[in-house]
Amino acid sequence: MPDYGTVSLEKYLYWEASEFLTETEQVACEVLAIQGAIQSNLSSLIQERLRRQFQEQFQEQSEAVWALLTDGPEAFYKQTLKHVIAEHGESWMNLCPSCHALCRTCRAKQCPRCFARWD
Ligand SMILES: [Zn+2]
Repeated sequence: MPDYGTVSLEKYLYWEASEFLTETEQVACEVLAIQGAIQSNLSSLIQERLRRQFQEQFQEQSEAVWALLTDGPEAFYKQTLKHVIAEHGESWMNLCPSCHALCRTCRAKQCPRCFARWD
């Protein structure tokens, strides 16, 4: 896979390419987002509420979702990106015309790696 730079794939995949993800992959993205929120620096009351919501919402999820997440979030995002690119190419990605880095959003006009700007 090409080097797309340092922008995190997690938000990009979920927000910019969700229509290319399988339903299982979409749920896996949501699971990771909620796990991240639970582990982040929130008040214990909110953490507890999220944890309860998480359990209610996802304990019934099929084995397929957990199977996708077996090797951790990074491996899941890499694998998912690989199949989305194999099926849909790179045209949905906002890539820097100079260095081919992935931009933070699909509308960004400045490269996060080489700081090139374009219109
Ligand atoms: Zn660049």
